[in-house]
Amino acid sequence: MIRVTENLRKIRELLAEAAIDAGRDDSAVQLLAVSKKQTLAGVIEAAAAGQRDFGENFVQEGLEKIAAVSRNDLCWHFIGHLQSNKTRSVAAHFDWVHTVDRLKTAQRLSRQRPAALGELNICLQVNIDDEPGKSGVNVDELFELANQVAQLPRLRLRGLMCLPALRTRFEDQRKPFAAMRDLLGMLRRQSLEVDTLSMGMSSDFRAAIFEGATIVRLGTAVFGKRK
Ligand SMILES: *Cc1c(COP(=O)(O)O)cnc(C)c1O
Repeated sequence: MIRVTENLRKIRELLAEAAIDAGRDDSAVQLLAVSKKQTLAGVIEAAAAGQRDFGENFVQEGLEKIAAVSRNDLCWHFIGHLQSNKTRSVAAHFDWVHTVDRLKTAQRLSRQRPAALGELNICLQVNIDDEPGKSGVNVDELFELANQVAQLPRLRLRGLMCLPALRTRFEDQRKPFAAMRDLLGMLRRQSLEVDTLSMGMSSDFRAAIFEGATIVRLGTAVFGKRK
């Protein structure tokens, strides 16, 4: 028995409560329901319960779900590692990509975005803890990349995304998110019209909301355990 509708109701309450505790508007934070490795029935139930934004990590799985759910009122976000040979179908079927960390990927998405679809929304993934071998642009290369991506046609640079290293204490969790907030502010001062911080998952979304997250990405909390 799926309990997606009830899960969503509780999560929306928690997000609104965290936003208010952080001194923000209760609708300041958008829920991205991460549906990777979840059933089609779960996604359909979530959509029926009013959820509009869904996140997928794997191109083929995402394309199959988008086709099978077949609703044109949903917004699909690609949040996995994007190989450059998979950009074409992402550009054609998704509305957002959260994980751009190099110019080459952005250039391909820009070239391959069908003109009829309008701009593809882009977040740059930042390796905010400077972890070796981890995806994401390093902070010292972020500004150059952001300015380059902002120039590309058919893309709209919306902001930044991160997956920080695991931390358990609330005050520790806030630190990388605060650094992300500062980076977004610096991009704004360079006249880039960015408005999005995609950060916070099941274990740290409250800390992310306290530091200005505009999109939190929750999977198991919405749908239950992954297959
Ligand atoms: C899987 C995933 C999530 C959601 O994780 P849960 O533990 O299911 O909440 C969020 N963001 C990214 C980038 C993911 O890959």
